[in-house]
Amino acid sequence: MSMFQDIPVDVGVIYEGERIRKKDMYVELGGPSMREKFELVRVREMDDVEDGKITIIGPDLKDMEEGKSYPLGIFIEVAGAKLDQELEGVIERRIHAYCNYIEGFMHLNQRYDIWLRLSKKSYQKGLNSFELIGKVLHRLFKSELPIIEKLQVTFITDPEKIKEMYDEALQIYEARDARARGLKDEEVDKFYGCILCQSFAPTHCCVITPQRYSNCGAISWFDGRASASIDPKGPVFEIERGELLDPVKGEFSGVNEAVKKRTLGEITKVWLYTAFGYPHTSCGCFEAVAFYIPEVDGFGIVHRGYPDVAVNGLAFSTLADSTAGGRQVDGFHGISIEYMRSPKFLQADGGYKRVVWMPKEVKERVKNFIPAELVDKIATEENAKTIDELKAFLKERNHPVVERWKAEAVEAAVALEEAAPIEVKEEAPEMAPTLTAATLPITAGGFKIILKDAKIYAKKVIIRPVKSEKTEKR
Ligand code: SF4
Repeated sequence: MSMFQDIPVDVGVIYEGERIRKKDMYVELGGPSMREKFELVRVREMDDVEDGKITIIGPDLKDMEEGKSYPLGIFIEVAGAKLDQELEGVIERRIHAYCNYIEGFMHLNQRYDIWLRLSKKSYQKGLNSFELIGKVLHRLFKSELPIIEKLQVTFITDPEKIKEMYDEALQIYEARDARARGLKDEEVDKFYGCILCQSFAPTHCCVITPQRYSNCGAISWFDGRASASIDPKGPVFEIERGELLDPVKGEFSGVNEAVKKRTLGEITKVWLYTAFGYPHTSCGCFEAVAFYIPEVDGFGIVHRGYPDVAVNGLAFSTLADSTAGGRQVDGFHGISIEYMRSPKFLQADGGYKRVVWMPKEVKERVKNFIPAELVDKIATEENAKTIDELKAFLKERNHPVVERWKAEAVEAAVALEEAAPIEVKEEAPEMAPTLTAATLPITAGGFKIILKDAKIYAKKVIIRPVKSEKTEKR
C-alpha cells in the first residue's frame, strides 16, 4: 500500500492471522504476565482532538529490552460530526484488525485483556517506535472509517499511568455492556454477525443478539447495529432473524442461513443457547470457556486470565485449544463474561443450575446475575481443586446437579436389569475400538479432509500429543 511508504515494514490484510512465537518475538506487550493493560477508544469534541498526534507515555519500543514483557495501554481519541459515543466499542474493536495488518506485529484479544508481540525481524527492519504504529493506525482508521475526521493516539507503557487509566477503562466497558441488558432476543427482528476473526478461524462467525454477546465480549448488539450502519461492507453485518425454530435452544432460520453463507457451507445450523448439538462456534479470542465435566454432569467455566489449572486439571490454554478454531465442539464452548449475565446463558442446558465451578474472580463479576439460591452452591478454586473435592462440595451444598446424578443412577440400574445376559464365547475376537464423530477433521499433505458422520473401526487407536503452535503460544 503506497500510503505506508514511510513505514519500514509491509502493511496489509495478508498479515492478519500471522502468529509470532515466543522465540521470534522482540518484545511482548500486555499478555498474561501483565495484570493491567487495556485499549480504549473515546469520542471527543472536534476541538479536543489533534489529528495525527501520537503521544508515548513511558518507554518506547526502542527503549525496551529484547525478550521482555511490558504493560501497555492504547488510548485512541476520535472526533467527527457524525460520531457519537455509541460507536466507541466498534471503533475500538478495529484496533485488533489494524494492528494485525502490520507485518511482524501481532494483536490478540480485546479491552482489558490485550496481548501483543513485535517480531525480531520487524524490529530489525526498523519498526522500533510506537510513533510508526500510531501512524499506521491513524491512516487505516481514517481510510477505512471515513466517519472519523480526527484521530489521536496515546501509547502508555508507564505502569503507574496504566494503573490510573485501567480502572476508568473498566468502568467504561461496564457502562457499555449494561446498555444492552434488558433488551430481549424476541424483541428485535435483526441480529448481527461478525467475521472479523475469520483470519484466525476461517469457519467462525459470531452471531450477536441482545442476549448473546459476542465471544470476545467487545461487541454488543448495539455495537453490531452501529458497525453495520457505518461500514455495511465491513466485517459486521445484519442478520434477518427469521423464524424462531426452537425457543429453548435458540435456533432461528435467518441465523442458520446467514452462518451457512458466511462459513461457505461449513456450519449449517447454530443453536445459540446451548453448548451441545450445534453450539455457537468459537474463534480464539473468547473471554472464557464453558467446559462440560462428565463426572458431575455439570459445567465448569474458566477465563483467559486464570493462572492455575481448572477443576478438571486442565489449564485455560488446553481447554481453549479444544474449543477454538471455528468448530462446534460438544461440551466446549467459547463465551464472553457478558453472556454469563444473560438470562439465556446456556438456557437449554439448565443455565446456572448446571454450572458447578468457576474461578472466584469470574464469580465476583457475575454474582448479581446468578440466581440467589445458587450462588453458594457453585464452587470456586477455594472450595474445590479436584473433581473429587468438587463432587463432595456439590453434595454437601445440595447443588441441583446432584438430583441429576440420582436420576442417572436409577436409569443405569434399570438399564442393567433389563439388559439381556451377555454370552461370552470362549475365543471371542478382540474388540476393535469404535470412533464415531459428527465431523472428524484430518490434516494431511496440505489438505484438510473432513469426514462427516464418520464411524471408524480400528484395531488399535494410538493417541499421541502433538505440540501445536497454538498450544505453545496461548
Ligand atoms: S469474537 Fe466474534 S464479535 Fe468478536 S471480533 Fe471475533 S468474530 Fe467479531
